[in-house]
Amino acid sequence: MNAVTPLVLSCPHCASMNRVPRERLAQAPRCGRCHETLFTGAPFALAAPTFDAHASRSELPLLVDFWAPWCGPCVSMAPAFAAAAKALEPHLRLAKVDTEAEPALAARFDIRSIPTLVLFAGGREVARQSGAVGMQQIVQWARANLRP
Ligand code: ZN
Repeated sequence: MNAVTPLVLSCPHCASMNRVPRERLAQAPRCGRCHETLFTGAPFALAAPTFDAHASRSELPLLVDFWAPWCGPCVSMAPAFAAAAKALEPHLRLAKVDTEAEPALAARFDIRSIPTLVLFAGGREVARQSGAVGMQQIVQWARANLRP
């Protein structure tokens, strides 16, 4: 990784890959295909068809909140996760997987309790933690696990 090589990152709207120079990450870059903004300051809903585009093909680390609408702690953690997206972008993308709507993803990652946060970097899982946590804890945990 260096400042000159563009970063290949996925679009949260259309899942197509974009090459963005690192120094332009904070300048509200837009998708070359759908022209939407590549960073929205909020988590996006992630589903099976585009999961690997965001978790593996994109060079941007991805933090996924595995949750379900019936899970009280999940719902109460949602504002903290949304606030963490604002704090962590554009160094990290945040997404949510509804385990009830996406049982195959929950099974693939062996999600036994929710909410569970799973951090992906370089196409593989680098950390996970279960249980509802606050915004500061999410941000600190993600940063600590991405430190080289
Ligand atoms: Zn797009």
